[in-house]
Amino acid sequence: MKIPFLDLGAPYRELKPEIDAAVSRVLESGWYILGPEVEAFENEWASYCGAKHAVGLANGLDALTLALRALDIGAGDEVIVPSNTYIATWLAVSSVGATPVPVEPDQATYNIDPTRIEAAITQQTRALLPVHLYGQPADLDPILDLARRRGLYVIEDAAQAHGARYKGRRIGAHGDIVCWSFYPGKNLGALGDAGAITTNDASLAERVALLRNYGSRQKYVNEEAGVNSRLDPLQAAVLRVKLRVLDAWTDRRRDVSAAYAEGLKQTRLILPHVPDWAEPVWHLYVVRTPERDALQARLTEAGVGTLIHYPIPPHMQAAYAQLGIAPTVLPLARNIADEVLSLPMGPQLGLKNVREAIMQIQNFK
Ligand SMILES: *Cc1c(COP(=O)(O)O)cnc(C)c1O
Repeated sequence: MKIPFLDLGAPYRELKPEIDAAVSRVLESGWYILGPEVEAFENEWASYCGAKHAVGLANGLDALTLALRALDIGAGDEVIVPSNTYIATWLAVSSVGATPVPVEPDQATYNIDPTRIEAAITQQTRALLPVHLYGQPADLDPILDLARRRGLYVIEDAAQAHGARYKGRRIGAHGDIVCWSFYPGKNLGALGDAGAITTNDASLAERVALLRNYGSRQKYVNEEAGVNSRLDPLQAAVLRVKLRVLDAWTDRRRDVSAAYAEGLKQTRLILPHVPDWAEPVWHLYVVRTPERDALQARLTEAGVGTLIHYPIPPHMQAAYAQLGIAPTVLPLARNIADEVLSLPMGPQLGLKNVREAIMQIQNFK
């Protein structure tokens, strides 16, 4: 590929001296599990997100799973999830023994449609789990209102929304608990797996901290059957370096998205729609067209890397065959899966590459 969809080594090359120093600091400290580096990142991340507490975890899926467990959601319970999301959102729900109940997205933003949620609520529903897809916040106010009215929790999947703002305020503490992934390709990415939760609720934060460490506060004293899902101090040290440049790198993503918006407005592609209350962080720049497969083939030929997020919605995966949801039941998720294409995006992409990608798309007829 002349223009890769995403160059995962580029962030390290840009920050090499700082990252190398942070990694050696941990190596030389002799402190390899939890400890000061993890605590420092937790404090910095909570403060960045405008949340009172952060708990560092091994990955984003565990963040979702432990958030559900901390709220005592399990067998027999239902959790409302978007029909079009990365499968991890659903997997967390099913892994605690609860049932994911899908709700279709808003056609303009691809985020869960708040007006469709109430019809999906039953006696078994315990929580609403919106995802801030592609880096754009979901419409949280109607979701929070509905949850309050019906006595439900709100768990946010913010794995793609580091730094995004809803009505001026950063994602991080609107709902009861917010789940983060620092997978390398995310806007704030580690050099391996990493995750966290943020919350304003001290007892929830404490419960997640207990669950991530064998259910143990005091060594060899186990209050409950927890797991091992601790944020690695090496990754915490790397994340602290990258957090310092997150806003600057988000600005570069905004420049890329602005260039796409300008360069592609005369084409037949449906471009991302940003409601006036949303400040997205452009984890992905997703265009939509019924001619998606042909466009992708053409761009691949021209050396422009693209990806599809996501080609098969969760309800059509073999993993969820047992739910027995017919493909036709969620047509919007299915149409989106058939028509979306993610263009090259990232803080190191460079506007020259963006212009080249735009030119290749303009040539597609
Ligand atoms: C990446 C992602 C996850 C899972 O995060 P991991 O760290 O890979 O476990 C969950 N939900 C969404 C929407 C994601 O994009």
